[in-house]
Amino acid sequence: MFPILTAAQIARLQVHGTHRTIAKGEILAAPGDRNRPLLVVLSGSIEVLQTGIRGEVPVVVHTPGGFSGEMSTLQSIGSVVLSRVREAGEVLAITEEHLRAIVQTDAELSELFMRAFILRRVGLIQSQAGDVILLGSSHSAGTLRLQQFFTRNSYPFVTLDVLTDPSVQALLDRFHVKAQDVPVVLCRGEVVLKNPSNEELAACLGMNQTIDDDRVRDVIVVGAGPSGLAAAVYAASEGLDALVLETGTPGGQAGSSSKIENYLGFPTGISGLALAARARIQAQKFGAEIRTAYTALKLGCDQRPYAVDLGQGTTVRARCVVIATGAEYRQLAIANASRFLGAGIYYAATATEVRRCEMQEVIVVGGGNSAGQAAVYLAGKCSHVHLLVRAKGLLDTMSRYLIRRIEEMPNITLRVQTEITALEGVEQLERVSWRTAPDSIPETHSIGHVFLMTGALPSTRWLAGCIALNDKGFVRTGADLDAAQLMAENRFGARLPQSFETNWPGIFAVGDVRCGSVKRVAAAVGEGSACIQQVHQALHD
Ligand SMILES: Cc1cc2nc3c(=O)[nH]c(=O)nc-3n(C[C@H](O)[C@H](O)[C@H](O)COP(=O)(O)OP(=O)(O)OC[C@H]3O[C@@H](n4cnc5c(N)ncnc54)[C@H](O)[C@@H]3O)c2cc1C
Repeated sequence: MFPILTAAQIARLQVHGTHRTIAKGEILAAPGDRNRPLLVVLSGSIEVLQTGIRGEVPVVVHTPGGFSGEMSTLQSIGSVVLSRVREAGEVLAITEEHLRAIVQTDAELSELFMRAFILRRVGLIQSQAGDVILLGSSHSAGTLRLQQFFTRNSYPFVTLDVLTDPSVQALLDRFHVKAQDVPVVLCRGEVVLKNPSNEELAACLGMNQTIDDDRVRDVIVVGAGPSGLAAAVYAASEGLDALVLETGTPGGQAGSSSKIENYLGFPTGISGLALAARARIQAQKFGAEIRTAYTALKLGCDQRPYAVDLGQGTTVRARCVVIATGAEYRQLAIANASRFLGAGIYYAATATEVRRCEMQEVIVVGGGNSAGQAAVYLAGKCSHVHLLVRAKGLLDTMSRYLIRRIEEMPNITLRVQTEITALEGVEQLERVSWRTAPDSIPETHSIGHVFLMTGALPSTRWLAGCIALNDKGFVRTGADLDAAQLMAENRFGARLPQSFETNWPGIFAVGDVRCGSVKRVAAAVGEGSACIQQVHQALHD
């Protein structure tokens, strides 16, 4: 976390930085400060502290050979710590631009800096100190959303539960907020945000620089799930000027997976969160500009460069656009449902999920073929399957062969006109309540596994009137496009759309949002990476 640079390493850094003297007590960075250089201590020392309601908490003292910085140094976002000169001396100051050049060209220093930055951020998160405090309740969906925002952005914060933490009342009084206002974020110990939106929170934390909307980029990637992050890594590493827009937090659906076990190269599995954090810093290392809490509201494709409208008068432009906005699985309309994602609620019934519920009772929700297939598959592995359907039967929505198989399997119970009303559990789902019409008397069962097979909705509303979609709203690309229509529109000249290209030249779609894609992390990453070659081709044309 805090390596000491050798004389040879410092010598290599000299060309990238400038020398400056530092005076005792001088503040080199305060929480929220942006565009801070990385400082290599040549003489004297720098103390790093976390500031918060409990005062200053020491993190480390950098002595000669040590260096400042953590993940935010490479991300152009606000500092999360206070850096102050302890003993006067001299430092080598390296700007973010030069630091990026170093991590892209000097393999040894790149590994040393990147490892230190990541470990330092992990340490700050684990310390449960700092000046960003979330006052919330474990029963509030708003609290969960904000916790997810902090966690998925790897942002250090302190969380206090108004129902169980006795120290909260003093804070509520001090900041004139009431328990019923929760969730409340005390940002930098000064600003009180009541149930803030992701955008408000990101602004307060200094996470988002204003976007330079005068510059025309090579490529804008919309969505920072696995496919968008892969596109960003490949675009930036191949020298393209890439802007990534993400409405929530990087990671997409994969970010909500507690363990991805089928992604190549991770034999013991990797959490979606860890995969997303690594991919994000990897893209930023190569110079991709990632902006979270920015939503693409409309794609303008009638003029090139193409325009992406971000609302409030901001429009960004690029010669190519990669649509990587994925899909949202229909969730249960129950406040705490997202808490059990991957911890009892699943969107797929494969060997991975089955390992968690073998020989146990499970619930499958849905009346379509995917629900039928899941029920039949699970019945072969689990003790009992309850198939919950809102409709009066399966005939209108499921293939006959599946209905017959369900009827033939003694350990599947079809429960029509039934819907889930409550979920309970601490870390893992433990109990499920449902009610069946017409009596609608709720029943509670000790079942810890629910498979939601109610379909996914593609995030394509922002493409309306512009991009060709299939009947379910997924983006058509390549051979899936209507050939006669393409001919009539005559936008591509003599060539045909490439495999990830939409009905507009230079606009691509990858990952779950693309019709016919395999809805898996590896497939999304593959498509995101591969499409950059097609972006090069489109830029060349
Ligand atoms: C709980 C869960 C567990 C899973 N487990 C596995 C697994 O173990 N193995 C596996 O292979 N697959 C798994 N999957 C599937 C896998 O996560 C997806 O196939 C993959 O995430 C798709 O990646 P994507 O980038 O195409 O889309 P997404 O992951 O959906 O990412 C799309 C991103 O775009 C953003 N976005 C949407 N609209 C806009 C907009 N207008 N402006 C800006 N940003 C926008 C979203 O916020 C999101 O971050 C799982 C899925 C879920 C839900």
